[in-house]
Amino acid sequence: MHVNKRLKPYSVLCYEALFRQLKPQHRNNSTINQDYLFHLAGYRGEQLVDYQLSTHPLRHFHIYKGLRLKVNNNPFQIDTLLTSTKFFLNIEVKNMKGILNYNSELDQLTQTYNNSEKGYQSPVLQTFSHEMQLNFWLQQVTSFHGIPIESLVVIADPATIVKNPKNDPTFNEKVIYANKLIPKINELKAKYTNNRINKTGLRQIHEAILRCDTPKKPNLIKYYKLNNSHFLSGIECSNCHHSPLKRGRKKWYCCKCNLSDQTAHARKILDYFLLFNPTITNKECKLLLQTESDKTAYTALKSMELFETGSNRGRKYHAPPLEKYPQHSYVPNKERKPTLTQ
Ligand SMILES: [Zn+2]
Repeated sequence: MHVNKRLKPYSVLCYEALFRQLKPQHRNNSTINQDYLFHLAGYRGEQLVDYQLSTHPLRHFHIYKGLRLKVNNNPFQIDTLLTSTKFFLNIEVKNMKGILNYNSELDQLTQTYNNSEKGYQSPVLQTFSHEMQLNFWLQQVTSFHGIPIESLVVIADPATIVKNPKNDPTFNEKVIYANKLIPKINELKAKYTNNRINKTGLRQIHEAILRCDTPKKPNLIKYYKLNNSHFLSGIECSNCHHSPLKRGRKKWYCCKCNLSDQTAHARKILDYFLLFNPTITNKECKLLLQTESDKTAYTALKSMELFETGSNRGRKYHAPPLEKYPQHSYVPNKERKPTLTQ
């Protein structure tokens, strides 16, 4: 049985890097903060569902937390996927505050929260579309077909009020609160008792999923039309916010508050990968760290054990995979209180 750890997605990591690297006067931009909280709420909701799944032994299932696959180059994302030899379960997580009202005639979901209304596509339709894409992907990539795929929309926050005034039966069946997830999985286990593929087939699908999962890094610089003038120059002091830190003997130090840090370059370089470019050269690194020294940039890059291509002046150091980014990292807007609002 394979169960991966849910990683903080790029959508959240990139915003956190943005808050660290923007000049302090740009960090409280309300659009950027709202967008960050939206992505953070999604991630938190998925973690709540992970918790529910962890309360029950799910032998015979592989569990994938956060997948992005492609059919004909069109990506689709699955919050949580359970696979077994008998059936697959696609779980879409919704972490939304307030009242959710389903209009079955328009296939629309309306969220009422803080005296405002916002419309969304029906999450049930969304899961149907994921089912079709997953089925197509299985046929294209693994040549397996005919495995039943079930879907559920899981409401992560028990305080969310869900209304289905026309009592649409599909909505009633597919949309559940997180605490109903395990009983629902047990119902599905009782429904699908025959093996549709053997263990070798399941293993092949598992390998294909791991091979094809391509997490997406958003381009926030382009999205918010940011330029160099919005960003800090060099490394910021985590204590007094002065920048840039200066390089002393084997460490960085702040000439304002005397803080010293041996590895401050690592965060800066990782944030560069998250925000600007998936590769960096020695020359670009010197500019990034605001140092004149080839050796300082070289030592900083080498210490990170990054994948390298090219040689001498053309050498490029490549961004690490998602799992190498720190999961708990410093975000400078201390007054920000993340909520579960989406
Ligand atoms: Zn300082």
